[in-house]
Amino acid sequence: TTQPQSPVVTTDLAGQFPLVARGKVRDVYSIDENTLLFVATDRISAYDVIMSNGIPQKGALLTQISAYWFDFLTSKISGLKTHFLTLSLPKSLSESTQLQIRKRTMQVRRLKVFPIESIVRGYITGSAWNEYRRKGTVNGMNMSRADGAPLQESERLARPIYTPSTKAKAGGKDENIHPDEAARIVGQKYAKRIEELSLSLYSEAHKHALKAGIIIADTKFEFGLDTATDQVVLVDEVLTPDSSRFWPASSYAVGKPQNSFDKQFLRDWLTREGLKGKEGVMMPEEIVRETADKYREAFERLTGKPWAQVWEA
Ligand code: ATP
Ligand code: MG
Repeated sequence: TTQPQSPVVTTDLAGQFPLVARGKVRDVYSIDENTLLFVATDRISAYDVIMSNGIPQKGALLTQISAYWFDFLTSKISGLKTHFLTLSLPKSLSESTQLQIRKRTMQVRRLKVFPIESIVRGYITGSAWNEYRRKGTVNGMNMSRADGAPLQESERLARPIYTPSTKAKAGGKDENIHPDEAARIVGQKYAKRIEELSLSLYSEAHKHALKAGIIIADTKFEFGLDTATDQVVLVDEVLTPDSSRFWPASSYAVGKPQNSFDKQFLRDWLTREGLKGKEGVMMPEEIVRETADKYREAFERLTGKPWAQVWEA
């Protein structure tokens, strides 16, 4: 039963707990008013569309990577609170459901999520590079360098920057906003804490990943509010290849776009086949295997643990 499982593209808890949301990757169920069952499926998206088949064990890898970081970051950042409760499954779930969602599920505290995406960038790429190239700013902030020379594509920034965005509804597009705008949305007091936490989380994670040969170029955090204590709590998935840009450190070079640690095989194949941005694309076996290998490699590098040890436990 711990043999390679065929990809889990959608979960079906058959009415055991109500489904509260199905995102691009996660199926979220309600256990009770304070607790969510957070299930990562094997769905994968590239160029903003979800492929019709999945990457076996990808969801499990994402969940175990997040769990690793929750623990690691809590030990590094004093006062950090996270939504993580346990990797155990509710005992009431049927055996077949337990088998379907094993290793890919965590129970988390259900919180009111702040309606912004807390993005931190240590390198200039993606939408930040696009804005900088056109206007010399990132999220409306001036990005001039001490020596006056222009930044190059993919260059490491002198210090990481906080570049929040709006959190669009499903199908919508997030918009980069100035930190002042984020403060108007969530309120000054929480905005300050969110920014400070985001920057510390990114710095600790970047340092750790770099030792393992992975550059975390940028990442997206989400935060919720514990109303009982008025504390800002780290929620959602954290520092996975899906919520971050991971680059292989071995091939990093400024002045051009970088390869993606995890999605390069898929992107290259989609481009080659003229399938970029098309709906309902079925990945061939070889692309699935190569991509699965990269997600596993990311887990093993970051945690220092063999994946088989976790998957088979
Ligand atoms: P998509 O990935 O399709 O853009 P998404 O990011 O909203 O959508 P997922 O990441 O698949 O979807 O699902 C996670 C959802 O659960 C997000 O909407 C996130 O804000 C929400 N969420 C994360 N942690 C908590 C929490 N502790 N309490 C309540 N909601 C949470
Ligand atoms: Mg998400």
